[in-house]
Amino acid sequence: MRIDVFTIFPEYLEGPLAVSLLGRAREHGLLDVRLHDPRDHATDRHRSVDDAPYGGGAGMVMAPGPLFAAVEAADPHRPLFLLGPAGRRLDQGLVRELAASPGFSLLCGRYEGVDERVARHLCDDELSIGDYVLAGGEAAALVVVEAVARLVPGVMGNEDSGREESFTGDPEGRVLVEHPQYTRPARFRGWDVPEVLRRGDHAMVARWRRARALRRTLARRPDLLAEQDLTDDERSLLDEFPE
Ligand code: SAH
Repeated sequence: MRIDVFTIFPEYLEGPLAVSLLGRAREHGLLDVRLHDPRDHATDRHRSVDDAPYGGGAGMVMAPGPLFAAVEAADPHRPLFLLGPAGRRLDQGLVRELAASPGFSLLCGRYEGVDERVARHLCDDELSIGDYVLAGGEAAALVVVEAVARLVPGVMGNEDSGREESFTGDPEGRVLVEHPQYTRPARFRGWDVPEVLRRGDHAMVARWRRARALRRTLARRPDLLAEQDLTDDERSLLDEFPE
């Protein structure tokens, strides 16, 4: 999987890209992240990449020249996504789609954002990581890279650990948040791990987990699942494991 990232702060990404799962994936050749600095393509003495906005107003806007030149020189995999708060919201469905592709690219804005001609004529789409405003696209790029990379085959040690997860869709096609998890010790400061998890009855554990995932989703993410949408089986599952 190749991911090209265009950023005027490549050093912002270098540290996180070298650590843990991403670091290992890159070492093993499963992930090829290439950082490109548009500043290398600036043409003036000060290597400037931004300019004042037409029409006036506060802040600076990233100029099209260095961004077009950087992308054209790298010839990156498409789609090329501009990161920006007005973009399509990233979700696990899109993450899965990207993980199944040979690669894609990300362009990070800074300051007040990028010249609109970059959005319209250089990038293929715009991607947001949520309804809030960051100071730059670099943190958003990391979010995208990490979410996608962990679904690339071979990147996570245990292929199973990607399966039963929040937002992933279970065998019944439900998109839920995950059930609670516990590890040793069985009793910690007087709080016990639920009995059912310690009995070794795998079918029962699966039922408990599904009941808990359903209950959590109803309580915390009612946008994913409405009470009236529950099947009879799911209702009886909730009755079987009351809170
Ligand atoms: N003036 C812009 C915000 C610019 S923030 C506006 O009001 O919409 C500077 C840069 O940070 C953006 O160009 C974009 O690349 C990045 N950014 C900010 N918020 C983001 C978000 N929610 N998702 C993805 N990128 C974001």
